[in-house]
Amino acid sequence: MEKLVKGVHAFQEEIFRSERELFQRLAKGQSPETLFVTCSDSRINPNLLTGTNPGELFILRNAGNIIPPYSEIPCGEAATTEYAVAVLGVQDIIVCGHSHCGAIDALLDPDTTAELPAVRAWLAYAQETKRIVDENYGALSPESRASIAVQENVLVQIEHLKSLPTVAARLKDHSLGLHAWVYQIETGEVFAYDRTSGQYVPLSDDVAKVGVRSRGSSAIRPI
Ligand SMILES: [Zn+2]
Repeated sequence: MEKLVKGVHAFQEEIFRSERELFQRLAKGQSPETLFVTCSDSRINPNLLTGTNPGELFILRNAGNIIPPYSEIPCGEAATTEYAVAVLGVQDIIVCGHSHCGAIDALLDPDTTAELPAVRAWLAYAQETKRIVDENYGALSPESRASIAVQENVLVQIEHLKSLPTVAARLKDHSLGLHAWVYQIETGEVFAYDRTSGQYVPLSDDVAKVGVRSRGSSAIRPI
C-alpha cells in the first residue's frame, strides 16, 4: 500500500498540478468516443497502450474480456455497455484480448477451476470459444491453441455485444464501429481482426476504419 499512497501524492503534486485545466474540464462531464473492453490483467494499461488521456476511453474490464449475451438477468457488462452506447454515444467499441490470458488458459483447462466456482461460472460465457477451438484447432500445440483461443474469444464476445438491444440499434443505423484487437504483452504489438482476410493483422488505420461486423469463415492463424 505504501507505494500506492506515495503514488497518489506524487500524482497530486506533479501530474495534477501541470494538467489542472484538463481535470477542471473533466469535472464538468465526460464525452469519451470509445468503449474499451479488456481483461482485468494487471499487465494491460489501456490508456498507455492507446496514448489516451483521462476522459477519452470508457473502460470495461473483467477476467477474460467477456460480455455475457443479453438476458433479463442484471449484468454489469450489459449496463456499462448500454450507458456507453445510449447515453455517452461512443462511436466505437474495441474488445481487446491479450496474450498469456489466465482466464483463457482456465477456459481451455477446466480442471484448474475446480476450486474456483465463481470463475468457472463466469467462463460459461466463453464456452463457445472453447467449442470453436476444440472443434477446429485440435492439432495445434498448446501454445498455439491458447493464442487462437484469445483471438477467437474476442470475436465470440463481439457477437455477444451485438445481442444487446442498444448496440443492435446503433449497428442498424451504422453509427457504431466494432473492433476486435489482441495485444501481445511480450512485443507490444496490437493485432486487429481484418474481415477481408479473416485473420488478425497488425493494427493499421485501414483495418481500424473497417472494423469487424462478423467473423469470416477461414480458420485463424496463431499470431
Ligand atoms: Zn486476461
